[in-house]
Amino acid sequence: MRSKVSFKCPKCGQNVEAEQWSAVSGDKNPQQKAKLLDGSLFKAVCRKCGRVSTVGYPMIYNDMKENYMIWLVYDTEEVGHVTEYFKKSKSGQPDDDSQEPVDPGCRQRIVLSPEALREKIMIFDSGLDDKIVEIMKLAYSKEAQIKLRGDTIAAALFSNRDGEKQIEMYTEKGKAFVAPVSRALYEQLEDKYGGKASYAEDRVYVIDDVWAWQLVRQFQ
Ligand SMILES: [Zn+2]
Repeated sequence: MRSKVSFKCPKCGQNVEAEQWSAVSGDKNPQQKAKLLDGSLFKAVCRKCGRVSTVGYPMIYNDMKENYMIWLVYDTEEVGHVTEYFKKSKSGQPDDDSQEPVDPGCRQRIVLSPEALREKIMIFDSGLDDKIVEIMKLAYSKEAQIKLRGDTIAAALFSNRDGEKQIEMYTEKGKAFVAPVSRALYEQLEDKYGGKASYAEDRVYVIDDVWAWQLVRQFQ
């Protein structure tokens, strides 16, 4: 599940070696999980000049205990492949003998960046429904947008730092707002969208802001 790559440091040309993990299990590799959450699993430091390079690579993350798996890929073609793989994994007709049968209740997701992978893990480990969290992020961003007077919220991210569940909102310039997650709002949105959101579950694996927009617009 681990391999090594090397590349030339873009700043000084020194050979940099980096470890790549194609699979990480949250319940079996706590060390790698911690590195994934602090971002260092996708970073390599040059020993000569100290430059930090980002190393992007596909990864499958799973947590058997919490019953979810997340596949990190980088383009739409790969999303298509993983979608097919996920569909087959629950149909009882896996691609090959090496594919273990997947529990029907297992939550399967596809993400397109290491940041999105980190966020999903924090959402699931907080015992929350990522579909409701995505819808909630829209509500928070809309409210923050009003306060910005002209600037736009470019991204909103769920985080859980030492048990503090928050929504962090960013403009192009950087972090603009941090708001604690309101349990009351979460429950309100769960009542309104919960059933409708799970209806879409088995057909879509990329649960992000675009997905949330479409759902909210459809059921407004
Ligand atoms: Zn260097």
